[in-house]
Amino acid sequence: MAHTRYKFEVHAENGVSEESGVTDRFESIALKTNVAAPSQVESVTQIGSTEMSLSISWSPPRKPNGVILEYRVQYYPLRDGPTQVKFAKVDGLVTQATVEHLDMGEEYVLQIQARTIAGYGLPSQPVTMRTDANGSQAPMTGDQPVMIAAIAAAGIFVLLVFVLVVIFVLYRRRNRKPPSDMDKLEYSNGEVRLPGFVAPRVKTYIDPHTYEDPQHAVLEFAKELEPSCLTIEQVIGGGEFGDVCKGRLKMGKGQYLDVAIKTLKAGSNDKMKGDFLTEASIMGQFTDPNVIKLQGVITKSRPVMIVTEYMENGSLDTFLRKHDGRFQVPQLVGMIRGVASGMRYLAEMNYVHRDLAARNVLVNSSLVCKVSDFGLSRVLEDDPDAAYTTRGGKIPVRWTAPEAIAYRKFTSASDVWSYGVLVWEVMSYGERPYWNWSNQDVIKSVEAGYRLPPPMDCPKAIYQLMSDCWQKERNARPKFTAIVASLDKLIRNPMVLRVLAQPRPMHHQSTSSDLYSSVPEWLDSLSLGRYTENFLKAGFTNLDCVAKITLRELQSIGVTMIGHQKKIMNSVQLLRAQASPSAASLRTPSPIPNGQPLPHIHSPGVGGSLHGTPNLHPHPHHNARHMAHALPV
Ligand code: AMP
Repeated sequence: MAHTRYKFEVHAENGVSEESGVTDRFESIALKTNVAAPSQVESVTQIGSTEMSLSISWSPPRKPNGVILEYRVQYYPLRDGPTQVKFAKVDGLVTQATVEHLDMGEEYVLQIQARTIAGYGLPSQPVTMRTDANGSQAPMTGDQPVMIAAIAAAGIFVLLVFVLVVIFVLYRRRNRKPPSDMDKLEYSNGEVRLPGFVAPRVKTYIDPHTYEDPQHAVLEFAKELEPSCLTIEQVIGGGEFGDVCKGRLKMGKGQYLDVAIKTLKAGSNDKMKGDFLTEASIMGQFTDPNVIKLQGVITKSRPVMIVTEYMENGSLDTFLRKHDGRFQVPQLVGMIRGVASGMRYLAEMNYVHRDLAARNVLVNSSLVCKVSDFGLSRVLEDDPDAAYTTRGGKIPVRWTAPEAIAYRKFTSASDVWSYGVLVWEVMSYGERPYWNWSNQDVIKSVEAGYRLPPPMDCPKAIYQLMSDCWQKERNARPKFTAIVASLDKLIRNPMVLRVLAQPRPMHHQSTSSDLYSSVPEWLDSLSLGRYTENFLKAGFTNLDCVAKITLRELQSIGVTMIGHQKKIMNSVQLLRAQASPSAASLRTPSPIPNGQPLPHIHSPGVGGSLHGTPNLHPHPHHNARHMAHALPV
């Protein structure tokens, strides 16, 4: 403990010390510890918020180690990361503060530190709080008589108006013919429109194509940046329009921000420039922590550029493939929660994304996921997963709802379908939805009621969420608001996530030797080709031997990583099921979770399908994560 006297004794003993009868000899020293900084501040909670402020309270450190002279609140907008930390100081006697001059509807990360004469202690665990969005409540704390009087006056005024309106409505009703359908509409959703009153409206997205000249839309929604403020550092990707680079944007005196810069390649015509800048006109209208933020554009000099916040971990699909199996389930759930929150915002803005997929979500260094890739015509031309449908439109088939494929009914409900596919991608660490099936096979199977199976180790509740997103009836799909709420509930009760979805029985008639012809091929399919030599050297030279391997044998041949053991034993279980005589029982197609029967499956021997109906098992060269049985190791 700080500032405390301690006595230390050093004793020496050997085997005969006890017999010697000599009293214990030792040397001692008395020491006093120095002053120390206070321990961590705890229990930081939100006690109020307005559009521009956040009020918080906290508990003093358990070990102050001296008199607390002051507390320091550090805060920064979550979207910007800790590059722009601000500080506010509070007297050491108070344990509450209101941080002001914040941005509306913005998420902030806050931490508190206590200071004694010995200096600052450890900052509290970071907490995230959001300021109110436009039109939300008034502050909850503080003695503000003027404010209270104003609120009371406003209340009386509203009451008066209400009484007048009721009288007015009753009078109109008595003197009028029955209301028309249009009149009825005004009362829908339990809302009554008051004459002369404009209800607070959520901001709505404006399609830049409604501008005659796309340049005007850019001027309205995006800030023109000074080229001299921008430094390009390296190329990080490429698109149809030009390179994507990493760079730095000068923000103020000595302050720089990492940014991503999309460039329009030389020789592009006006139409290309317009299409390119559409993305900026759309992105510039959005302000949400889970939607990629536009910093500005450069249109007045060459090359034309779009500058956005920089996302250190790049696109979500590549990021997950790179870190296969390395996240805890709650971390994955946190990622899909972020995407759902961004989509909730976009849906509230009446923006339909049309190409929501893991490849179009970017991840920053704190694993915050943000929706990106706006401006459909541009994006779909650029998207290798978008294919032309029989009706001539270009659509990312595997991610698109049946009604959008069939008759281009793109809505927030079709975005919810795509979100379900994205969740499947995340839970299977970037596996390709419907593996190597052709687009036509995907369309036909989904129409016939087939749905993707639960990925390996996927919580039941998350698979249920995906299945809900894939309801044929689009109005039956959950809204993004409900999705965020149910994910928040799961995050608060992580125990629920431990209940895993049961793998669906396999529906094919192939045997292990149909699926994989050799041990190396089988290991490659699990992305574990590195163990080929271990297996072959130990005599596991064919798949029949492999099907009999035990966990202990697996360990003894050098597969020591638990994740790899689990992956292999899961697949071995599958090989066994296929090899055993009882495997015949697996051949009967069974109903899928939403009760719709599987499409009829023909069995054309090896690979291929009849009448365009797919063989419902993945390609051998694809990761078997989606189909493995959960098996405790
Ligand atoms: P896009 O043309 O938007 O699909 O971008 C092409 C690639 O550039 C993406 O797949 C990312 O790897 C990278 N990229 C795009 N925007 C960003 C960003 N804001 N931060 C980091 N990488 C990005």
